[in-house]
Amino acid sequence: MPIRQLSETMINQIAAGEVIERPASVVKELVENALDAGAGKVEVVTAGGGLNLIRVTDDGSGILEPELAMAIARHCTSKLTEDINDIRSLGFRGEALPSIGSVSRLSIRSRTATSDSAAEIGIEGGRVLPVRPAAANRGTTVEVRDLFFATPARLKFMKGERAESSATSDVVKRIAIAFPAVHFTLAGSDRSTLELPATDDSPEGSLRRVAQVIGAEFPDNSIAIDAMREGVRLTGHVSIPSFTRANALQQYAYVNGRPVRDKLIAGAIRGAFADVLPRDRHAVTVLFLTLDPAVVDVNVHPAKADVRFRDPGLVRGLIVGAVRQALADAGIRAATTGAAGMMAAFRPGAASYGHGGPANGHRSYEASYHASGPAGFDPTRSPQRPLDMGFEGAGFEGPGQRGLRENEQAAFDAGPLASADARAGQSEAAETLLGAVLGAARAQVHENYIVAQTRDSLIIVDQHAAHERLVYEALKNALHSRAVPSQILLLPEIVDLPEEDAERLAMHSETLARFGLGVERFGPGAVAVRETPSMLGETNVQQLVRDLADEIADNDTVDTLKERLDKIAATMACHGSVRSGRLLKAEEMNALLRQMEATPGSGTCNHGRPTYIELKLADIERLFGRR
Ligand code: ADP
Ligand code: MG
Repeated sequence: MPIRQLSETMINQIAAGEVIERPASVVKELVENALDAGAGKVEVVTAGGGLNLIRVTDDGSGILEPELAMAIARHCTSKLTEDINDIRSLGFRGEALPSIGSVSRLSIRSRTATSDSAAEIGIEGGRVLPVRPAAANRGTTVEVRDLFFATPARLKFMKGERAESSATSDVVKRIAIAFPAVHFTLAGSDRSTLELPATDDSPEGSLRRVAQVIGAEFPDNSIAIDAMREGVRLTGHVSIPSFTRANALQQYAYVNGRPVRDKLIAGAIRGAFADVLPRDRHAVTVLFLTLDPAVVDVNVHPAKADVRFRDPGLVRGLIVGAVRQALADAGIRAATTGAAGMMAAFRPGAASYGHGGPANGHRSYEASYHASGPAGFDPTRSPQRPLDMGFEGAGFEGPGQRGLRENEQAAFDAGPLASADARAGQSEAAETLLGAVLGAARAQVHENYIVAQTRDSLIIVDQHAAHERLVYEALKNALHSRAVPSQILLLPEIVDLPEEDAERLAMHSETLARFGLGVERFGPGAVAVRETPSMLGETNVQQLVRDLADEIADNDTVDTLKERLDKIAATMACHGSVRSGRLLKAEEMNALLRQMEATPGSGTCNHGRPTYIELKLADIERLFGRR
C-alpha cells in the first residue's frame, strides 16, 4: 500500500482516542473551556450517562462569529502564544473540540459581549456544517449528542449510565474545587442535580466550596496547610487522622489550579500519613500547589491530568514536611463524626449500629469504639510487659501494680462520701485539671476506658490505644533524634549495584548513618555495609540497600529507611503497650491524659482509630431532653 496523508477527520479521530476516553472526558474539556473563557456560571446537563447528550452552558467571553470555524479546527487555540513554558490556562492544545466533533454530533452556539446576536456552528462525525445565526445570551453553549456514534468500537467500552454519570460528577467536583467563585450546576434526566453555589476566592471561600463537594463535616475534621519552599507554595486542607476513607478517591490535588492525578503527590500524602493511618485507610485531602509554570510540565498527556515537576524531590519534601508538621501542630483531636455517631447510637429510639449505621448518615464509626487488646488478657501474667521507653515519668509502673477496681473508685472520686477536708484539697487540684484539654480523670470502667471530665464535656479514653500511641511517639523520637542504636556486622556485607546507585548511597551515607546504617563505597559498582539498625534485627541487607538506592534515585530522599524504622517502632509499641484490662490508679490515669495532651498525634492510635472521644455537656443535656 502506498504511503498516504491521513484525512483531517481520521487524524482527529485518532486524537480523540486519547483525549476523549468517555463522556466524563468531554465534560472535562468543555468545562475547562468555559472556565478559560472566564465564566461565572457553568451549567452541565447530561442524558444517557452523557452518551446521548452533554450540554455545557457558560456566561463567559463567547466566540466571535468569524472564529467559530477555527474553534473546531485542529491545532487552533486562543490560549497559547509563543511560549510553551508559560501555560496559565486549562486548555492549550487546540484539539478538544475537533476531537469531540470527529466522534459525535457537536454544536457550538455563542455570543460575545460586543456582538448583538449569536451564531452557531455544527460538526458531525468530522463533517463541518455551515455557520448560521442563532438566538442566545452572552456566552457559549456546546452541545454534544450521540457520543462515539462514529467510533462504535469505543462505544462498546462504555460502562453503563450510572458509572459514566458518576465519573462525570467526579470531574465536575474536582474542577469546581479549584474555582470556588464559579457557580456550577450538573443536572439531567439521568441524575440528581448537583448545585454548587459560588463562594469566593478567599481561603474561607475555598474551604466552603470544599465543604460543598466533600461534605459539611470536612472543615471541622481537617487541618489547614500553608507552606512554602523554594518558590513552591502548598495550601489546602487534610483530614485529621480519625477522619478517613477506605480509598484515595477523596484526595484532590491541583497544580496551578489544574486538577491533576499525580503519583508523586499521592505518594507524598501516603508518606505524610504513614505514621497515623493504617495501610487500608486514606486521608481526605485537598492540596493546591502553586509554582512557576516554567518548572512544571503539563504537556505530558493529551488529557492534561499528568504533570512532571522539574524538582520532584522538592515537591515531595514540601508535601510530606508540611502535612506532618500540620498534624503535629494540631496535636490531639478526635473526629467530631465519632461523637456524632455515638450521639446517634445513644439517642433513645435511634437505629442501632448494626442496621444502617448512625442516623446522621455519616459512615459508621463502630470500629472506633472497640478495645484493641486480646480478650482475656491478664497483664500480671503476660510476658509482654509494658515498654517504659520515654515513658518513665508518666507514673506507669510494672504490670503487677494493682490499680483501682470500679467499686473502689469512690476513694479518689470527689463524691459525697469523701470527707470535707479531703474534698477541699482535691477539688482545688481537680479544678485546675478541669481546664485541661482532656480534663480530670474520674474513673476507669471496663478495665480499659478512662472517664474524664472537663468544664464542658465528658471524655472517654481508650487506654490501650492511647498508651500504644504514646510509646510509639517516644520510640520514634528516640529514633529521629539520632541515637539509633546499630549493630556492627561481623563481616561487612558487600552489595553489588549499578555505579550510579553506589554513588548515590555514598552521597547519603551520613544521613544513613544517623539511622544506624553504616554504608561506604566499595569499588566502583558496590557498597560495603558495616552496621545495620539494631531495631531491624536480622534483616535482608541486600534488599534494604537496593530499596534505598531506588528511593534515592526517585526522590532524592531516604524515607524508606525512616518508614521502615517507623513501622518497627509501631510494631514494638503495639506489643509493649498497656493492654486493656490493666487497672490504673488515679495518678496513672491523669498522667496518661497529660502525656496525651503533650504528644502530637495522640488523638489516634497507630492504627488510625481514635484514642479518645469527647461528648459535650450540651449534647449530653440534649440526650436527656434538658435542652
Ligand atoms: P483549547 O482549549 O486547547 O484552546 P479547544 O479545542 O478546547 O482547544 O477550544 C478551541 C478554542 O475555542 C479555544 O481556544 C477558545 O478560543 C474557543 N472556545 C472553546 N470553548 C469556548 C467557550 N466555552 N467560550 C469561549 N471560547 C471557547
Ligand atoms: Mg479546551
